[in-house]
Amino acid sequence: MKKEKIETQEDYIQSLKELDHQVYYRGDRVADVTEHPAIIPHINAAAMTYELARDPMHRELMTAASHLTGHEINRFTHIHQSIDDLLKKVRMLRLLSHKTGSCYQRCVGLDGLNALYSVTFEMDQKHGTGYHKKFRDFLQEVQDRNVMVVGAMTDVKGDRSLAPSAQDDPDLYVHVVDRRDDGIVIRGAKAHQTGAVNSHEILVLPTITLRERDKDFAVAVAVPADAPGVIMIFGRQTNDDRKMQGEIDIGNARFSLVGGEALVVFEDVFVPWERVFMCGECDFSGLLVERFATYHRQNYGACKGGLADVLIGACALAVEQIGVAGASHVRDKIAEMIHLTETVYACSVACSAQGYRTPSGAYYADPLLANACKHNITRVIYELGRLGHDLAGGVIATLPSEQDLHSRTVGRYVEKYFKGVKDVPTEERIRILRLIENMTGGTALAESMHGAGSPQAQRIMYLRLGNLEQKKKLARRLAGIKDVE
Ligand code: SF4
Ligand code: FE
Repeated sequence: MKKEKIETQEDYIQSLKELDHQVYYRGDRVADVTEHPAIIPHINAAAMTYELARDPMHRELMTAASHLTGHEINRFTHIHQSIDDLLKKVRMLRLLSHKTGSCYQRCVGLDGLNALYSVTFEMDQKHGTGYHKKFRDFLQEVQDRNVMVVGAMTDVKGDRSLAPSAQDDPDLYVHVVDRRDDGIVIRGAKAHQTGAVNSHEILVLPTITLRERDKDFAVAVAVPADAPGVIMIFGRQTNDDRKMQGEIDIGNARFSLVGGEALVVFEDVFVPWERVFMCGECDFSGLLVERFATYHRQNYGACKGGLADVLIGACALAVEQIGVAGASHVRDKIAEMIHLTETVYACSVACSAQGYRTPSGAYYADPLLANACKHNITRVIYELGRLGHDLAGGVIATLPSEQDLHSRTVGRYVEKYFKGVKDVPTEERIRILRLIENMTGGTALAESMHGAGSPQAQRIMYLRLGNLEQKKKLARRLAGIKDVE
């Protein structure tokens, strides 16, 4: 792990330059992620988690006192010690969404750290393993150096109807291939890894509840991003070619859109024992998945709510720019967007406010409410996009490029015929329309559907946590049916 503490965004970018990790994009090895136009905006968004923590105005939200050392640390490395911490987390995310209009990626690592903290404690209590102490040592390093961690959970899964050990190819779930005196060797791959190519550490976690026969798949470890055998293949996003071609058409050139995901391959990666936090304890795999999922689902009303604030602002400007801001149907639609946004944010606040202490002392969000929070996002973001498209008009699908706007031959036509009200320059109008397009397009919508787990994963949790028996009892009693004990 990098030895000097990362304080500023410049330190962060410098630390990424020094990483010797293997990143591929469109068939080529990326020599320096900090210089690659496809990746720079995502780095800028993550860098905001460092920069804002230095701003006295945002310090209270962006930093916390470490419960390990008492030192001031970045909240993205903090273990929640109270309900107030859980609430500050979601307020921090809404703030960061306002600043970036994008995904700043660092929440995944934060949620992985919190999940492993409490689960290693409980595993040790039951099995007498020594994971929690090792994990605290790792955590302290993360806090002291202020590194970015990617929480790597989603296995690629192959045939979903088969258990990990029943797959034709066992590598479709990350698993232990060798146990040695000094550590273990893992193989497999994790998909959709948000922020992986600009993180320093990878926290590998199992992805499903595992049975005894799948023991080798119950593995949680920390691996440096540049460990031998780690290979990252960066994904494509809607309109990502625009990042190589200009600025206006990107919509949000500095921060891009959503997280910048990668497939992370572990090709026989060695992990020393001090960085192994679960190895074979399949009876705790389900709990670990549930804790991580809850922490990440807690976020979505705040992170997407903050993005929705930006989208609403853009839509309010777009309608002003063409002189229809006062129309009653337009005002209704803007009001509806605000209602939806505050509703999902309320879910993030609610599951935090009803959080509770785990045996380790770390606080945990209410899992049922956190699942409802994320599940609402899978609908509300599409509805917000629909309203955004409605307000912006068909022009977001047909606008000419910025090259045409700047063309010496046809630029004046673009200027003239895309003009709205007198006082607003055409370029400003185009910029706002491109921002709306960016925030409501393909990758952004799919992320809100599947990020933090697909909707079916939330439905499973309702049936597990929704206490159907108690609900039946309530109904029986009021219907005058005698209780059967
Ligand atoms: Fe954080 Fe939201 Fe990005 Fe998830 S999608 S990493 S919660 S900003
Ligand atoms: Fe996400």
